[in-house]
Amino acid sequence: MELLRRLSNAPGVAGYEKAAQTVVREELAECADEMWTDRLGNLIAVKRRTTKDTGEPARRLLYAAHIDEIGFMVSHVDERGFLYFQPVGGFDARTLPSQRVTIHATKGGHGTIEGVIAPQPRWLATDEDLSRVIPIDELFIDTGLAGEKVHDRVNIGDVVSLSKQFEVLNGNVVTGRNFDDRIGVYCMVEAFKRIEHTGVDVFAVSTVQEEVGTRGIPTAAHAIEADLCVAIDGSLPADTPFAKPHREQCRMGGGTGIYIMDKRTIGDPELLEALYATCQEKGIPYQRQLGGGTDASIVQRSGLGAKVTTVGAPTRYMHSTVQMCDMRDVEATIALLAAFPERAAELIPADWR
Ligand SMILES: [Zn+2]
Repeated sequence: MELLRRLSNAPGVAGYEKAAQTVVREELAECADEMWTDRLGNLIAVKRRTTKDTGEPARRLLYAAHIDEIGFMVSHVDERGFLYFQPVGGFDARTLPSQRVTIHATKGGHGTIEGVIAPQPRWLATDEDLSRVIPIDELFIDTGLAGEKVHDRVNIGDVVSLSKQFEVLNGNVVTGRNFDDRIGVYCMVEAFKRIEHTGVDVFAVSTVQEEVGTRGIPTAAHAIEADLCVAIDGSLPADTPFAKPHREQCRMGGGTGIYIMDKRTIGDPELLEALYATCQEKGIPYQRQLGGGTDASIVQRSGLGAKVTTVGAPTRYMHSTVQMCDMRDVEATIALLAAFPERAAELIPADWR
């Protein structure tokens, strides 16, 4: 779990993923046959097929998990040093007051300043205030520092990340601010290390800028021209009192989630069958589910196209700072990703160009 802790704690707001990407690079360096970073910052590691060379070029399986997390950018510093910000990625304003944040300050050298997103004090709130959600553009960050100090250090456009650190909550259950999609990256890295037999070249891509609209994956998809793609991202468990029972498809603790469809992709039926078969054969718990939208949608439609879907551990409270996963689901996801490359080549018809 030490790697998951390091991955989750490294800041990597969309567009500024370097620190987190460094952790991935160090991990993959030892087991990749080749590795490079593209112009957008996607990290691409390759494991070549282990079956004997047939003279035909190897088919390609792309695993994609996004390293970026949602965060903010400073948009204004007032004269007293309170910082206003714009979101980078999709936030729910209700979750923000009282959060601890880190400002990645760039004025007069790089360094960090710690702060909180100020909660409105009860004694200053009107009746109307008590019943409304404060919109993001009215929220501000308080560092407690004097105005001039903040002005000396912070530039407009400085990146702000959420500070919440990884924790083991209880037994198998873990919590962190960015399990969407650091858990996915963790699963991909661990699986990549474990792949022993593969009939295809496996490309593990730690993608950038997914949270701002899958902006990173297109260049990697173009470079790799995959035949098959499995994105790894959180599955959506509707297994708490917030959801009506009829919304439930998968549960935390019930195994890895396999996306049959999401808002941007219909999973390839043959690929889905092969994933189910891999789980059944290896005794890996899995659940069918309908998801949100991932990097897989881009790979499906790039170049000549690919058979795609997404898998991932059910993740409660996505896009909050208390995202929650069960490590047994994480392990199931890793086991599936490690085993699948062995049978992946069977999915590709001989007459595919
Ligand atoms: Zn995600």
